[in-house]
Amino acid sequence: MIKISERIKRVKDTISSACARVGRDPGEVKLVVVTKSAAIEAVKEVIRLGFSDLGENRVQQLKKVSAQIADFFQGPEGGSDLPKNVSWHMIGHLQRNKVSLVLPIAFLIHSVDTLRLAEEINTSAAKLNLCPKVLLQVNTSNEPQKYGVPIGAATHLAEQIETLPNLKLVGLMTMAPLTHNKNVVRTCFVRAGELFIEMRGEKIVSRQFTELSMGMSSDYEIAVEEGATILRIGSAIFAG
Ligand SMILES: *Cc1c(COP(=O)(O)O)cnc(C)c1O
Repeated sequence: MIKISERIKRVKDTISSACARVGRDPGEVKLVVVTKSAAIEAVKEVIRLGFSDLGENRVQQLKKVSAQIADFFQGPEGGSDLPKNVSWHMIGHLQRNKVSLVLPIAFLIHSVDTLRLAEEINTSAAKLNLCPKVLLQVNTSNEPQKYGVPIGAATHLAEQIETLPNLKLVGLMTMAPLTHNKNVVRTCFVRAGELFIEMRGEKIVSRQFTELSMGMSSDYEIAVEEGATILRIGSAIFAG
């Protein structure tokens, strides 16, 4: 069995190579370690290695694992060589009735794709005196079963979200379809990158609109080449 430290080093090396190919600074690319498939000991190992951005796609799992990790920080190892704290990323589809559970935990919500969800986050956040950071999830693959706002409706939705005082829209998120066809994947990431640049250019969004979350285990090299600032990687680190 290959150790997690080796797997994560390989991922980091692959990110660096992809950055070098397109003249990007690897420091511009944040790795979110997706823990949904991992045993809790493996998650702790990743934290010991210095990684502090972790992602979950389901609310119950986010609650459970974040509580276990909070206990870990309270325990004997806390305060030693561990990072100061962990930032949790909610990367999966979010139902409106689960918003109040997520807000106290999440550092960044990647999956805002309707005005109704944004409004629910805004209302709940006001009650909790929070102003969470969110990404607008766009459907760049035109697959009807995928979550995300269609590309053509994204700018208008962003404008509406910008009017809500208790959340901060800081970028876009997208998922490419699961396919071995790299051209299909790249097309999705190019579309997201173009939309990202266009929205920034048109000044519909604030100056804090700086993040482009795209790229998973199977496609993160392409995502880096097309401008991703956040990668969400699980199985390349934990599987096998
Ligand atoms: C599971 C998941 C990932 C990570 O997928 P891997 O293929 O395991 O790297 C990224 N983004 C979302 C939204 C996910 O649900």
